[in-house]
Amino acid sequence: MIQLYIPLNFLGVIYREIKQSLADMEKLFSLLDQNREVADAPDAKPLQTHGAEVRFNHVEFSYDPKRQILFGVDFTIAAGTTTAVVGHSGSGKSTLSRLLFRFYEVNQGSITIDGQDLRAITQDSLRHAIGIVPQDTVLFNDTIEYNIAYGKPGATHEQIVAAARAASIHDFVESLPDGYATMVGERGLKLSGGEKQRVAIARTLLKNPAILIFDEATSALDSKAEQAIQQQLKEIARNRTTMVIAHRLSTVADAEQILVLDHGRIVERGTHQSLLAANGLYAQMWQRQQASAEENPASPASDLEQ
Ligand code: ATP
Repeated sequence: MIQLYIPLNFLGVIYREIKQSLADMEKLFSLLDQNREVADAPDAKPLQTHGAEVRFNHVEFSYDPKRQILFGVDFTIAAGTTTAVVGHSGSGKSTLSRLLFRFYEVNQGSITIDGQDLRAITQDSLRHAIGIVPQDTVLFNDTIEYNIAYGKPGATHEQIVAAARAASIHDFVESLPDGYATMVGERGLKLSGGEKQRVAIARTLLKNPAILIFDEATSALDSKAEQAIQQQLKEIARNRTTMVIAHRLSTVADAEQILVLDHGRIVERGTHQSLLAANGLYAQMWQRQQASAEENPASPASDLEQ
């Protein structure tokens, strides 16, 4: 994953790499309009959401025609609920979120939000409706205030502070000599992974999107920070249609639905309890994770990337 405090003029150069990492898709789209690979249909309409049910209908996808990545992926995220996607590294988890954000077009099948095909709606309206908390938040070389306000152009200072409070970063910001005017980024204060993720959460709260994509950090935070982030995630996911790309199972137990991806196919689906009872791939991954947590209790839950 790229470490990101990037001068804006470099963004074009590393666009592809960042795009790959799902680092901060929202920002890239606003900065790099010219790089759009997907065009609006001439008669594209703004997305109208009523709860934002997300549906993948028999989606087939390949980045490269020689190598198919997703096979017949079919699922629904009911309006206002959370679906977690788990699976080994390379199974296609992040690809699902890239397709939902319409970075790429599906090859076959379709993706709809409240029955509207992504290909029939404007990309601007789609990207307004989706908030992303990425693994690695890209911070502008600007103030903390600016970095939070990015979620909602024109936000007032009071709204920014309210979002920062809700994301539990307000006290930290206030403790800095320059408060919300503190410069961050490569020429400013370096924030920790957890602090950056809280900035992303505050930004998302301000944006107030109908759909949330949470790309869980692969690099584990310490367990206290981890729990705090999880708690905040629960808060922002409430009443929003949420897709969690989960790299560790400890975070998915509460999801209404868990999808287990294996080599681009959904091989199991259900709740945590039903998947444990089914004693399949999910149960194996869970047992392995429990065993490694026992062997090494000091570390947060081990990841699934093996
Ligand atoms: P991880 O848990 O490691 O992040 P993932 O399950 O999210 O993995 P994806 O990033 O969705 O996996 O990748 C699925 C497959 O697609 C991988 O085999 C990857 O090599 C391939 N892939 C991803 N992006 C591209 C691309 N831009 N061009 C070609 N192949 C790609």
